[in-house]
Amino acid sequence: MNGKTIPVAEPEIGEKELQLVTEAVKSGWVSSRGKFISEFEEQFARFCGTEYAIATSNGTTALHLALVSLGIGKNHEVIVPTLTFAATANAVIYTGAKPAFVDSEWETWNIDPKKIRPKITKDTKAIIPVHLLGHPAEMKQILEIAEEHDLLILEDAAEAHGATYNGHTVGSLGDAAIFSFYGNKIITTGEGGMIVTNDEKIAKEARILRDHGMSLERRYWHSVIGYNYRMTNVQAALGLAQMEKIDYFIERKRENARIYNSLLKEIPNLVLPPKRSGTKNVYWMYSILLKNKNVRDKLMEHLKTKGIDSRPFFFPVHSMPPYRRFVQKNECFSVAKNLSNRGVMLPSGVGLKKDNLEYITNEVSKVISNPLLG
Ligand SMILES: *Cc1c(COP(=O)(O)O)cnc(C)c1O
Repeated sequence: MNGKTIPVAEPEIGEKELQLVTEAVKSGWVSSRGKFISEFEEQFARFCGTEYAIATSNGTTALHLALVSLGIGKNHEVIVPTLTFAATANAVIYTGAKPAFVDSEWETWNIDPKKIRPKITKDTKAIIPVHLLGHPAEMKQILEIAEEHDLLILEDAAEAHGATYNGHTVGSLGDAAIFSFYGNKIITTGEGGMIVTNDEKIAKEARILRDHGMSLERRYWHSVIGYNYRMTNVQAALGLAQMEKIDYFIERKRENARIYNSLLKEIPNLVLPPKRSGTKNVYWMYSILLKNKNVRDKLMEHLKTKGIDSRPFFFPVHSMPPYRRFVQKNECFSVAKNLSNRGVMLPSGVGLKKDNLEYITNEVSKVISNPLLG
């Protein structure tokens, strides 16, 4: 804990991180060449159960790079949930394609597979299921729809390292997937991202595009306009050290969730996080739903006065000005709106102790049991 307030998330960086980062800096290989990048990629691919992993400068560049490598571009449409971090939709827009927003389902708070089919047009090329807050999206139905309509699947697993769906680790379920290693994600490289895939062609395309579109055989020969989306060796050193603890971090998140659940389950008018059978939720951010927006906002205010940090859910992306042009008339996203108004992320750092969680849930119950609220 850093002083008085309990943060929503805080990376745990130890001696191993210091050792490997120091080694990277001292080696002189501080840009995007050096041994740590390929080691980090290999370990991360193994962790996801995929053939290939391509490290990037952050999760958003991973999304953009993956979409371009999948052949997404102008005049295409890509289906995305509206309840996600804006980067999911932004990356689609960078390619020149249009995002088609889909509402959430109550069961998992993820994209509602039943609402995907009506959004498919002749221009639809891909679906990006987001495993929101660490809970896997309903992949079986999504994969069936993709198969039926010949669509690509890019998993946005930025919040769900190590989550599983019917025994498969997220990241290995579609054509490609992306992860983020931002400071509040399950492991961190400071800024950083990763594409994983089992498709050799996609992997090769992503490697070329990540490095300015330069030919792998002929230096300074560019047969395509690429990007500089590379990860540095210093970032990868940090990531490699974090990989030693990734299973421990996930277990800590799940243990905190078990404690939160047991402390909160008796409180009325409060919805605990989703847990669909056959899935492993990694509880990136332990989140609950309150009765309505008023109670949620009052709760956050109260927690703040008690030195407890919290976050509201994302705004549905379609509702914000730059995205409204992608919404058709009479479209309604009632579940996403409802979740967005009622949801709050509680402190979820891996360093939290049982007494921290008791203190937090005690303050939550004080607000909810206040009869003046409702
Ligand atoms: C964090 C996040 C991203 C973007 O990752 P950055 O590394 O911050 O660029 C994309 N999608 C989702 C769902 C995220 O939570």
